[in-house]
Amino acid sequence: MSYEQYEQTAASIQMMVRGTIIYISGGVYDIFRGEGSQRNLQLLINSFPTLAERAAQARKHAVSYRGFHVGCAALASNPEEKGADQTAIFLGCNEKTASDAQTVCAERVAVQSALAWGYRHIVAIAIEGPPQEDHGSGIKSPTLHPCKDCRAAFQYTPNVSPNTYIITLNPMSGQGQICLFRELILIHHGPNHLQWHALGRPT
Ligand SMILES: [Zn+2]
Repeated sequence: MSYEQYEQTAASIQMMVRGTIIYISGGVYDIFRGEGSQRNLQLLINSFPTLAERAAQARKHAVSYRGFHVGCAALASNPEEKGADQTAIFLGCNEKTASDAQTVCAERVAVQSALAWGYRHIVAIAIEGPPQEDHGSGIKSPTLHPCKDCRAAFQYTPNVSPNTYIITLNPMSGQGQICLFRELILIHHGPNHLQWHALGRPT
């Protein structure tokens, strides 16, 4: 992909967000060259406004004793299907009813639901929630990234791949970020953690 094409791609994603500022990380450029990723990108562009809206809707149903509400929408496809891609959006919201109660993360609910319905390929995960300091890396990002437990889980989950898009939206500032899952791992854990565990993961 040429730089001009990359710029067009970045502009088209920005247009999808209706005034939200989306930062495209430089690393996405490299990944867009892949055949599979082009397909992912088209699926993402087709679904983007709906995906963001669904994450916001799911967030309204979150339960948190401390008012920390997160919503997630996972765009899934079944690449094995002949003809047009079958896609579906699966939702999750977080639940933490007390400080000593186990956390149920919105992201893992959405991804697990896709798995339960037989969708083996997550194209993108959109997350809306208030940003906070990451408990694993200590990084403070302008949007809420999936937590260290979700990141670790997604390195094993068969339907999340290194090329799954991670889109994070800040409901207060209107800011958004987009990167690939492998970039998210790089940001928080560095290059030594880029191993992928193919438990039935499609290539
Ligand atoms: Zn989590």
